[in-house]
Amino acid sequence: MYQPLITFCPHPAIFTQVLIIFVAKLEARYMQEKLRFLSLSSSSDGNCFYLGTQSGGILIDAGIGVRKILSTLADNNIDIESIRALFVTHDHIDHTRAVCSLSERRGVPLYATAKTIEAINRSSLTPKLTSNTNIIEKQQSITIGDMVVTPFELLHDAFDCVGYSIEAFGKRFTLMTDLGCITQTVSHYISISNYLVIESNYDRDMLAANTNYPYILKQRIDGNYGHLCNEQTAQALCENFHNDLKHIWLCHISRDNNTPQLALKTICDSLCGCNVEIEPLERCNPSPLFLL
Ligand SMILES: [Zn+2]
Ligand SMILES: [Zn+2]
Repeated sequence: MYQPLITFCPHPAIFTQVLIIFVAKLEARYMQEKLRFLSLSSSSDGNCFYLGTQSGGILIDAGIGVRKILSTLADNNIDIESIRALFVTHDHIDHTRAVCSLSERRGVPLYATAKTIEAINRSSLTPKLTSNTNIIEKQQSITIGDMVVTPFELLHDAFDCVGYSIEAFGKRFTLMTDLGCITQTVSHYISISNYLVIESNYDRDMLAANTNYPYILKQRIDGNYGHLCNEQTAQALCENFHNDLKHIWLCHISRDNNTPQLALKTICDSLCGCNVEIEPLERCNPSPLFLL
């Protein structure tokens, strides 16, 4: 027997309420599985990055003042209590300035290789780390909340430099700052990442023409244990590009031997036609909070 369709439909008010709850649940699920990335500072003046999920986050490096770290996190509604770990890439002061304040006074567990911890403790520029340190090994993953963090080797003139590749919710975020050359390991992590922070430190011509830099310093920067120039970064990205690489941030851009525009142009030219967002990170100012 024919029955009008209307008899099967709920009251419009109930239908609307069910729809609202459904959309809210979808949104909550969507937000729950989002990664949040923030660059607090990225240059030889200081480096600090945040990566988190709804349930907590990590910092990579603490090379700026602790007050600036706390205020930038607060500006982005990130509670310092939600920071579960501080991972250190290497012992240079532009990456370690506030490691002691954060790990010992604020109680954020510090993770670094044994050689990096030793080098920080030998430095006269930072206080000694006496507790709250955790030794990591390259290629051995550590789970922090929703994130699995894998340190990997970078060649740089520090005691023991690493990059970090972080996997969460089926997405991979990799950060590699301060490296002098593209190794097989570096290529591998570019080729499997969805989100990538990579150094594009200097422009070769600008460095060569810089009369304020002594020859020995130029050699250090340009060497296999120095920094990546725009062309090296561009070539590595071009050779290892894949369609699941969604966003590239260029970091540690030199104030004296590069410009963000030049770095961006060199990398964009090499990836011409590729569907990927590319942007330089500001040297001393925080980025927006990216939802990935
Ligand atoms: Zn650095
Ligand atoms: Zn360095």
